[in-house]
Amino acid sequence: MAGVDFVDVRKSFGAFPVIKGVNIEIEDGEFVILVGPSGCGKSTLLRMLAGLENITAGEIRIGNRVVNRLPPKDRDIAMVFQNYALYPHMTVRDNMAFSLMLKGSAKDDVDKRVGAAADILGLSRLLDRYPRQLSGGQRQRVAMGRAIVRDPQVFLFDEPLSNLDAKLRVAMRAEIKELHQRLKTTTVYVTHDQIEAMTMADKIVVMHDGIVEQIGAPLDLYDQPANLFVAGFIGSPAMNMLNGRLDANNPNAFLSVDGTALPVARPAAAAQGRNLIYGLRPEYLSLDPNGLPAEVVVIEPTGYETQMIVKLGGAEVTGVFRERVNARPGETIRLAIDSQHVHLFDAESGRRLV
Ligand code: ATP
Repeated sequence: MAGVDFVDVRKSFGAFPVIKGVNIEIEDGEFVILVGPSGCGKSTLLRMLAGLENITAGEIRIGNRVVNRLPPKDRDIAMVFQNYALYPHMTVRDNMAFSLMLKGSAKDDVDKRVGAAADILGLSRLLDRYPRQLSGGQRQRVAMGRAIVRDPQVFLFDEPLSNLDAKLRVAMRAEIKELHQRLKTTTVYVTHDQIEAMTMADKIVVMHDGIVEQIGAPLDLYDQPANLFVAGFIGSPAMNMLNGRLDANNPNAFLSVDGTALPVARPAAAAQGRNLIYGLRPEYLSLDPNGLPAEVVVIEPTGYETQMIVKLGGAEVTGVFRERVNARPGETIRLAIDSQHVHLFDAESGRRLV
């Protein structure tokens, strides 16, 4: 096993820069997820680590080796692709054994490794089938099996779950996480799905437009987003963001565009006199007879909880309530805000101030 380091890595396609100086340290055995919207450069970064794409500048290290110029086969990595890339004319067993056979491993050793990987992945009874005779989830497991048998220093995953339906995706998420807990192989995983990132990663790297916006443990990103981009990207339903300024006479009140005073627990001096964004996660609203009036726009009970869109502070705000709410669209309800969890962002730079 080995850690991975990206040191000021840059990549341009022609004159067009797509990776603009990226630094990431990945510890030995860590499960790191690169996440960000389409086009942010996460696949390019993974492909550079795999050796499938050249680096324009900077350094990539696996273990203590600089791998910038090493061909993929010498990097001791195994990659699982979105489309699985299975050989259709080969059985599951042969698909899994193929790379080992190519390396000239002894047949006994190959059988042993394929058997062990099949055991771990629950594929033992499917070894003689062809890919077309498998479900999507089973194909995904074969693709992982092919990576496992090679016992690489690093696993790379490029959106491995995006071809699966929602239910299977949730199940495979847990399987991949369990697999990592078992093998403890350093893993770099790319997805655009922040829920996948939140649920699986030891550490998340949030990317946007070729740069790293923030690196941290999932709940640290959730609780302490560095800026508006991370705050809006991590969390579902998304954080509510209201425009306004602090009340010049009361630093504990944020005045939204319609003049509603919203509570602020820990005002920062730097927030005074600036255009701000008030960041409020949906779960920090609660029903309270003494709270602020809000008009219900949409109400969506799921059984376990109720999600509502309400008009508050001149904006439409989403709330998630861990209870059944008796209200109709058009009705006015009263809501309290848990101000300890409110964030303030500088509207111009996007940086979090509180
Ligand atoms: P997605 O989630 O859509 O796969 P991504 O974050 O993985 O997006 P990349 O595939 O890394 O993004 O692409 C980053 C940028 O680089 C995009 O603007 C893309 O158009 C551009 N790009 C990628 N490959 C090439 C290429 N071979 N030639 C030119 N531009 C490319």
